[in-house]
Amino acid sequence: MQEFLQKITAVFADFNIVDALEIFLFALVFYYVFRILKMSNVRHVIAIISILVLATGTVFLFSENINNQIYFIVPLVLVGWILMTFNVEVKRDILSMNTFVNYTELAKHQTTASKDEVERYIGDIIKALQNMSKDNIGALIILSNDNLPRQVLDSGVTLDANISTQLIEGIFFPKAPLHDGAMVINNYKVQAAGCFLPLTQNVNIPKELGTRHRAGIGITETSNVIALIVSEETGIITIAQRGKISRYADYDLLRKTLNDYYWKDLSADGRKKL
Ligand code: ATP
Ligand code: MG
Repeated sequence: MQEFLQKITAVFADFNIVDALEIFLFALVFYYVFRILKMSNVRHVIAIISILVLATGTVFLFSENINNQIYFIVPLVLVGWILMTFNVEVKRDILSMNTFVNYTELAKHQTTASKDEVERYIGDIIKALQNMSKDNIGALIILSNDNLPRQVLDSGVTLDANISTQLIEGIFFPKAPLHDGAMVINNYKVQAAGCFLPLTQNVNIPKELGTRHRAGIGITETSNVIALIVSEETGIITIAQRGKISRYADYDLLRKTLNDYYWKDLSADGRKKL
């Protein structure tokens, strides 16, 4: 232990501007590596790993002449990097850090709505949920507030349609092409449908909740969104927020959740101008 401390002290004693510059450049490289990673493109990831392996090799080749203690970080960082690339949970946690997430753009043409319009949207969403619950039609709706990662939206089909009971029910109708996956309601529009969400890995979630529920809960763990889930098996409506669920959501709870979303969440950052 003492030897280790001495080593560390020695490293810092020899520290000079060149080392500082190297560390800075290293940090810069990693910053860009993370930015590229957010695209989650396998080809990019492989390219980055190859570059890092080459860079590490080069550093070790030349490190005998320079202050080589600094480079004990390199293999550690590399191992961390590979872990992160191949471990879905670690990767998701890192991607969920705000700096690395590419937020969706605002639905630019409709950032405001009248009070009556908002009331109608809320009523229509609740009616659709309750109708689907009655008919045992499975549904997964995300209230997104502009904060879904781009790749989630890209996994589905962009709609940008007005919110209505008929549209929501039509999309989740079991034979409809977009009934699989999640619908995204962003502010005052149905932004997309058929989106693929990350599943929660939480082991405490009741076993009877399958992938639809796990997808709904999962996205609320990493993004500040609300998931409204209708079970195809039981018709039960579940609300997920920050990874926690409220089951058996009735009219009052749905109303409160949607009121909070439209009147509190959206107005909180000044986006709603009524
Ligand atoms: P239900 O109570 O409705 O049966 P469940 O929680 O038991 O729901 P499944 O029966 O596994 O879940 O539901 C499968 C459906 O969930 C799929 O047809 C699909 O529409 C949706 N789904 C599954 N995985 C995802 C995902 N990763 N992202 C979005 N939707 C998903
Ligand atoms: Mg099921």
